[in-house]
Amino acid sequence: MTKKITKIGILTSGGDSPGMNAAIRAVVRTALYNKLEVFGINHGYMGMVNDDITPMDGRSVANIIQRGGTILKTSRCKEFLEYEGRKKAFDNLNKKGIDGLVIIGGDGSFRGAQIFSNEFNIPCIGLPGTIDKDIAGTDYTIGFDTATNTAVEAIDKIRDTADAHDRLFLVEVMGRDAGYIALHSGIATGAENILIPERKTDLEEIILSLEEKEKRKKLVNIIIVAEGDEFGGANDLSKYIKEKLPSLEVRVCILGHIQRGGAPSCMDRVLASRMGYHAVECLLEGKHNVFVGIVNNKMHYIPLNEAIKKKQRISDDWMKMVKILAT
Ligand code: ADP
Repeated sequence: MTKKITKIGILTSGGDSPGMNAAIRAVVRTALYNKLEVFGINHGYMGMVNDDITPMDGRSVANIIQRGGTILKTSRCKEFLEYEGRKKAFDNLNKKGIDGLVIIGGDGSFRGAQIFSNEFNIPCIGLPGTIDKDIAGTDYTIGFDTATNTAVEAIDKIRDTADAHDRLFLVEVMGRDAGYIALHSGIATGAENILIPERKTDLEEIILSLEEKEKRKKLVNIIIVAEGDEFGGANDLSKYIKEKLPSLEVRVCILGHIQRGGAPSCMDRVLASRMGYHAVECLLEGKHNVFVGIVNNKMHYIPLNEAIKKKQRISDDWMKMVKILAT
């Protein structure tokens, strides 16, 4: 029989994403409702290694559901990559009697959680907190919706000036090695083309399409470039296009970190609240090494190693639709 959990630790790790605070709030309040003690671990795994761990109560999470970033702070922690660092972290948890963990982060954080859990037999539950939506096994991740909406708002503004000047704009969006922010924001803003790492970039086709549109006097074009596209970013593409089509006015806009911040959207707040609630349910049910994912609007518990191993795929249908709608 699995041991009953009495004290849990919660941390945010890796890149921050809007909605992490809503998830922290849900975990803390659900845990307290179930008579569990809760500890906030500051700065991700670094706080575990350095014993930066403090008790939390219902008031510690008041007035945070609407705030971006993470009240627990986050970091990337080199020590946690080594056994000695993880042992130190475990000893610090042990001192406080923490016997379960909720980790809000991306696939790297989940990898760390899985290794830690296997080494020290402590249940770890993951919540997918990343704007990149690059975790297999869940339809959405906390922060993706907000980041995509931020990108859409910015691209709409860029379209106004592109239209005023008859220009081609290349807009680079975030996503690391995943193209979801590019794909969704590109479709939502009627982009002419969307370059994502999941598909080989056909440069010749881009040029042909721009030439053809120039002939038809379709002069306002926006191409969305995912930062991880294998050809390079928007600056590389701009150089290439200027060489091939010197008469075209091309401008580059790199959206950058504005996509990470800001108040979480309603969808992210609800998603984070549901996931946080279910993370505690998971621990109470004695589940180990899973993360909470959403599939067809239902919560699922997915083994951490499935998030780590699988890469998401973007179907051919989506790309076909992008082309048809951009004519
Ligand atoms: P994200 O969770 O956003 O993908 P990272 O990949 O930077 O971000 O991972 C966050 C942290 O998780 C790392 O700084 C490290 O402390 C921990 N981590 C990642 N991979 C491992 C691993 N293989 N072993 C132990 N810890 C890891």
